[in-house]
This record gives sequence, C-alpha cells and structure tokens, in this order.
Amino acid sequence: MTTPIGMHSPLDDAQPLGATYERTSRPPLNAPALETQTRADVVVVGGGFTGLSAALHLAEGGASVVVLEAKEAGAGGSGRAFGQVVPYNKYGENAILARFGAEGGQRLIDLVASGPDLVFGLIDKHAIQCEAVRTGLLFGAHTAANTAWLERRARFWQARGQPVELLDRNAAEQLTGTRYYPHMLLDRRGGTVNPLGYCRGLAAAAVAAGATLHEHSRAAALHAREGGWTVETATGAVAAAQVVIATDAYSDGLWPGIAESLVPLRAYHLVSKPLAERFHSMVLPERQSLTDTRRLYSGIRMRPDGSLHLSTDGPAFRNDARAFRHKASCRVADLFPALPPVEWREEMAGWVGMTVDQYPHLHSLAPGLWAAIGLNGRGIAAGTLLGAQVAGHVLGKPEKELAYPLTPLVPAWVRPYTRPLVGSLMNLYRVLDSIELRGAYLSS
Ligand SMILES: Cc1cc2nc3c(=O)[nH]c(=O)nc-3n(C[C@H](O)[C@H](O)[C@H](O)COP(=O)(O)OP(=O)(O)OC[C@H]3O[C@@H](n4cnc5c(N)ncnc54)[C@H](O)[C@@H]3O)c2cc1C
Repeated sequence: MTTPIGMHSPLDDAQPLGATYERTSRPPLNAPALETQTRADVVVVGGGFTGLSAALHLAEGGASVVVLEAKEAGAGGSGRAFGQVVPYNKYGENAILARFGAEGGQRLIDLVASGPDLVFGLIDKHAIQCEAVRTGLLFGAHTAANTAWLERRARFWQARGQPVELLDRNAAEQLTGTRYYPHMLLDRRGGTVNPLGYCRGLAAAAVAAGATLHEHSRAAALHAREGGWTVETATGAVAAAQVVIATDAYSDGLWPGIAESLVPLRAYHLVSKPLAERFHSMVLPERQSLTDTRRLYSGIRMRPDGSLHLSTDGPAFRNDARAFRHKASCRVADLFPALPPVEWREEMAGWVGMTVDQYPHLHSLAPGLWAAIGLNGRGIAAGTLLGAQVAGHVLGKPEKELAYPLTPLVPAWVRPYTRPLVGSLMNLYRVLDSIELRGAYLSS
C-alpha cells in the first residue's frame, strides 16, 4: 500500500527547540540521513520518547532496528515538553477500573504508576544528562470538591503503600513557600526532567544498544510486500518485517487515518530569568513541580539555575506564547506575593496529540504494522512505557498481557468541529476556572 504525504500536518513546527533546554542537554546526535536501500527486523517511524523507547527495548531484545526521524530526535513534542514525569493518567483510578474492568484497569493503573521508575531508571542506567529531579509532584486543590478528590487519590495509593500524602495549608507552605492552597497532594513518585536532554539520551541509548538512527529522514511511503513492509524516504528505503509508527501529534499522511484519529493542540510554557539568590530557598525549595486541579494547564517549577518555569494554556491552534506572559506573571504573584515581578526569558511551545477518550492508543493497523500514538500531553513517562509495550508485543509478548489494549483506528469525530468546539471549551474552562479561583475556598 502506498500512502503519499500531502495533507496538512503540524510536522513543520516553526518554533525552534528551547535554548533553555539546549544549554543543559547533550548535543544533538547528528545522525546521518538514510541514503541506501537497507533491511532490518523493525522500522520505527518517529524519534520521540515513544519511538526511541520502542527502539531501545527492541534492540535490547535482540531485534535489528532502524529509526526514521523526519527532523532530529526530540523535534516533536518530546523536545518541547514542560518536564513533569507523572505516574497517572488524565482519569482517576476509579474511572480507569470502571472503563477497563478490574483486571485490565488494574494492569493499566500499575503500568502507568511504574512510569517514573522506568524513566528515572533509564536515566540512571544510561547516565542521561537531563536535570533529573525526583522529589515528587504537588497538586493544589482549587475547590473543596477537588480536595475531596485528591484525598481519595491519596487514600488509594496509601493503601498500596505508596508515598502519596495530602498536606494542609501549613504543611504545604513549609514545603513550597506558598499558602495559596488550603490542601495539596504530594506524590513523591514523580519528578521532572529536561525533556530534550532525556529524549536525546534515549536516542543515544538506543543507538548504543544497536539501533540505527537516521535523522532528516521522513518516512514518505509505506509499501506492503511479501513478508513485511518497505518504508521509503526521499533518498533511501528500509525493508522490514514490522513497522512501528510513533508520530503522535506530528503525524502526517504516512498511513491513512492516523492523523485523523488525533486532535493536535498547541501547549506552551515560559522560563523566567533566574530569580535573585535569596529567593532560591523560598520558592519550592525541594524543587517539586506544582500544578493544580484546574481544567487548564498550570504547572510551575524552579529550574536548577533558579529560574521559574511555568506552563500555561494559550491559543490552541496557533503559536502565540507572548500573549500569556501577563497571565503567567499574575499566577506567580498569586502564589508567591513576596517575589518581585518576574522577567520572562523564553517561551516554548509544541503540539500535543489528543485522543477523543484521552487515553494513549496502541493500534494494530495491518499484519506487522503498529501505531503507538495519542499521548494526550502526558508523554514523558507514558510514551516511554508505550514504546516499551509495543516493543514487547513486536518481540512476541501476547496481546492479553498488554496494559494498553490494542484498539481499532477510528477517526476523531470531533476533528471537523475542533476549532469552534475546542475554542469554546477552552473559553468555558477559563471562565469556570476563574470563577472557582475567585470563590472563597482558597482563602478559607
Ligand atoms: C508544550 C508541551 C508541554 C508538555 N508537557 C509535558 C509534561 O510536562 N509531561 C509529560 O509527560 N508530557 C508533556 N507533554 C507531552 C509530551 O511531550 C508528548 O506526549 C510526547 O513528547 C509524545 O512523544 P512521542 O514520541 O509519542 O511523539 P513526538 O515526540 O511528538 O515525536 C513524534 C516524532 O515523529 C516525527 N515524525 C512525524 N512524521 C514522521 C514521518 N513521516 N517520518 C519520520 N518522522 C516523523 C516528528 O518529527 C517527531 O519527532 C508536553 C507537550 C508539549 C507540546
């Protein structure tokens, strides 16, 4: 089957990778473009967390692997993420159990909970330079209902012996330097990384394990052939028994229906100039990342150089982070009123690939052809896990042992209405969030 490229794609992301991340990552791998006709057991399309984790686990499992990346490793969402390594999905544990059943749901919860162990384990094992910090993640509750929800989450994990606890305002202030939230959840399993550094390190680890990486090698066509597939780029081709497509929000027309199964949304974050030395031990002194229970993005963390790093919502379909400097400054002032006005140094942005059900998807597209996509803006741990899962399946692990079930590829029904629908929804969320923030709960 031949599927020429020619549809709109966020693949050509004009925003450069962040200078803040470049400064503290290993240099790019500068892997050569594919310029020959070659063979491998498996071709992986896409050099982000998902594709590179798949390549690493496949190579470690004894398969010969070629990774084709259209730009450079980390050029997609992976080199542009905010950096939180999270042990949870969008939905709470009870919702997952209700949807996937007691056995399947528990398998998925356990897998996702193991994500930070996998990520930080790989960082240690391969000595990846990525500013890794594993002191936990914090969630402020912005309403009473959300405090109750966080309390249930803390009880769920405490019953399983995990280091997750609910803090009252005084305990939270001691840990973070802010009295803003009456309650915060502290989940010590998570942490943060420089995602570009982690992604390049994963690429280097995959190459060291025997995978061959070709950058600037966009997979332009896929042909089924006797015993497998041929993947063509502009200057070469790879014949392989199996192909894994891991292109998430940056999916193009390589295989019909993949891009149409996702809704790409723009996400943003800002980095400040370093704060004066005297504030370094006042703001988030243990360097947890703090987010809250609002509907839209709200992460804030202190980087190792003393700068503040803040994620924020913005225009969902175009690139305009500058508009949100003021909003970001107001959030910092709410949380840390003793700080002088923050000067922002850099904006970063990228596309996140949303699925309609907001779970990552593993698809079997045809014999020997897989897609691992739809990380829904939580791909550092989940993409690494999803890559490892698909690698295990390609190497022979039975389908019933997969925590992410194989599902059919279906078009995202919202896609034709995305702009008006998502635009209205985000405006509604902004209004609801700000009404709730102005309510009495935070100051009670
Ligand atoms: C602003 C922002 C903040 C985020 N913050 C977080 C966070 O704090 N924590 C978290 O867990 N997640 C976060 N995410 C989400 C996370 O970055 C993504 O979920 C993750 O990077 C997806 O990884 P991936 O490997 O599946 O896809 P990507 O990293 O997007 O990689 C896909 C790759 O495929 C390549 N490609 C596409 N088509 C082709 C082709 N035809 N041939 C060859 N290559 C191709 C692209 O160039 C790209 O490099 C954030 C994302 C953004 C944008």
